[in-house]
Amino acid sequence: MKILVVSAHPDPASLTNALRDAAVAELRSDTHDVRVTDLYAIGWKCAVDRRDFPALPASERLRVPAASSAAFATGNLTKDVAAAQDDLLWADALILAFPLWWFSMPAILKGWIDRVYACGFAYGVGEHSETRWGDRYGEGTLAGKRAMLIVTAGGWPSHYGPRGINGPIEDLLFPIHHGVLFYPGYDVLPPFVVYRADRMDDATFGTTAAALKRRMRTLFETSPIPFRRQNGGDYAIPSMELRPQAVRADLTGFAAHIAMSDGKDC
Ligand code: FAD
Repeated sequence: MKILVVSAHPDPASLTNALRDAAVAELRSDTHDVRVTDLYAIGWKCAVDRRDFPALPASERLRVPAASSAAFATGNLTKDVAAAQDDLLWADALILAFPLWWFSMPAILKGWIDRVYACGFAYGVGEHSETRWGDRYGEGTLAGKRAMLIVTAGGWPSHYGPRGINGPIEDLLFPIHHGVLFYPGYDVLPPFVVYRADRMDDATFGTTAAALKRRMRTLFETSPIPFRRQNGGDYAIPSMELRPQAVRADLTGFAAHIAMSDGKDC
């Protein structure tokens, strides 16, 4: 199978990159075809601006969704963005490897998503009408592919547990899992999270890398997080709210968008 690994750490010798390399080595030894994009190494341009739309007349306002849609439709995206989209289309699975910075991904990776996820490619896909709200959340350009996060975090597991002060890790990663990956169609696998990363020693690295390698060996067998599909009948259109018959009325928040979270789907 074909796998794209995108990593975001400024230090080539970092723990995050060492784990990325362990994952890549395991995948390659398993005969997978792997491409690696190290965003710092290639000097990825992070912020969306006018230079992303060279065909946009100087006299026109920059309305990003419209400019993005036109550039995508006419083949006028910049070369780096078009190449990254080709990589995403090529790959059967996407892995994003990054340190948790301020409860999210580093800016350079967010900037990769902002620029690569063009209108018509990752959003604004499919029919938008009174009865259909596009192909997204389980459908879309990247449907049928898998995605997974490798995340290093300074905090302890308990800090990210159900009652931990930082909030549950599932909740913190929900915007990436559900909003960035499930939205354009990916089946999203449970993340590989390394806690207390700053305290990692050689022995712990060995056991952590071994656990990560095990996850790599089951990349195409692990069950995805069962997010509810937008067009699977659980949501009313156009309000996009969960129908009462789909989920218990008192179940709200992120968990409500995961099937079987209230036992109703069993
Ligand atoms: P590194 O600094 O590269 O390495 C960590 C340790 O691993 C070092 O001691 C290193 O010697 C050791 N190590 C062991 N084996 C190896 C090996 N084979 N290769 C390399 N190193 C090895 N944490 C949170 O929990 N939540 C946050 O919101 C958060 N926000 C942050 C925001 C910023 C701006 C920053 C800078 C940090 C933040 N942190 C946060 C902490 C951050 O998540 C960790 O610092 C980071 O995940 C550690 O990973 P690293 O790859 O940078 O580790």
